[in-house]
Amino acid sequence: MEWKEILKLYGFAFKKQWGQNFLTDGNLLSAIVQDAGVTSETTVLEIGAGAGALTRALAQTAKRVISYEIDKSLEPVLRETLRDCPNAEVVFEDFQKVSLSALEHKLKRYTVAANLPYYVTTPIVMRFVEQAKECDGLTVMVQEEVAKRFCAEADTEDYGAVTAAIARRGVCKITRRVGRELFTPRPNVDSAVVTIDFTAGGFAVASERAYRETVRCAFLNRRKTLENNLMNLFRLPRERAKALLAEAGVKEGARGETLSPERLGALSDLLFGQGVIK
Ligand code: SAM
Repeated sequence: MEWKEILKLYGFAFKKQWGQNFLTDGNLLSAIVQDAGVTSETTVLEIGAGAGALTRALAQTAKRVISYEIDKSLEPVLRETLRDCPNAEVVFEDFQKVSLSALEHKLKRYTVAANLPYYVTTPIVMRFVEQAKECDGLTVMVQEEVAKRFCAEADTEDYGAVTAAIARRGVCKITRRVGRELFTPRPNVDSAVVTIDFTAGGFAVASERAYRETVRCAFLNRRKTLENNLMNLFRLPRERAKALLAEAGVKEGARGETLSPERLGALSDLLFGQGVIK
C-alpha cells in the first residue's frame, strides 16, 4: 500500500503547527540518502519521521536509523510503513526536549539526515553545531532562504550569526534545490537540501563561548560599526575598542558582517586572551 493510502486508512490529519510537509518523490529520497553519505556502516539520526518515507529510504542503506517523531497519531502508520525495516526505530518524543549528550552517550558516531519541521529548523541545527560531539554532520531539508543563510559568504545580506557558527564547525553547502510541488501538502516556499560536514573544514578557537559572544557582537546591530558594537556589548571605552580592532587587523569603520568566520575566530581569541570576554 502507498503511504498516502495508509495515512487515509488511519484517518491521519496533517498538522501545520508541526511542519508536516511529507516527501513523496522516490528519486529525491534516494538523493538525500546519497547526499548524507550513508553507507551500510552508518548510524543515522532522523528528526521527524512523518509517514516514514525518508526513514525507509535511509534504512535501506544504513546500518541503523533512529528517528524522533512528536506526533503519536503517526504510530500505527509508521508501524505499517516501516514493517520491513528492522533496523529503523521510531521514538515518539519532542526532539526539542531530548538531551543531546544523553543521546550521544547511546549512539556514538552518527549522521543526521532529516526533512526538518520548518518551525524548529534553526534551533535544531544550532544545537548540533554548538553541542554535538559524536556527529559527523547533517544533511537536512530546510526552507531555501534558510539554506542560503546557513551557507552564505561574508559581507552578503544572507551572512549572519548562524552562518558564522556553522562555518566554525565544518563545511556547509547546498546540495540541491527542491520545489514546493514535491511535498504533501504543498508548502508556500521552495526548499533546499543542505549538507554540513563536521569532518571537513571548521577551525579551532581558544574558547567556544568567546566565539559565540564575538559573533553576537559582530551582528548585534548590523548598521553600526564593529567598534560601536564592541563598546556597547562589552562596555569598553572607544580607545580600547579601537586598539583591540587594530591589533586584530580590522579596518577602521568596518562593520562586523564584513569579517569572515575565521577573522571572527581570531578576534574572539584576542578578546578572550585580553580578558575582555572571560
Ligand atoms: N520525514 C518525513 C518526510 O520527509 O516525509 C516528514 C518530514 S515533516 C517536514 C517533519 C516531521 O517532523 C513531521 O512528521 C512532524 O510531526 C515532526 N516534528 C515536528 N516537530 C517535531 C519535534 N519537535 N520533534 C520530533 N518530530 C517533530
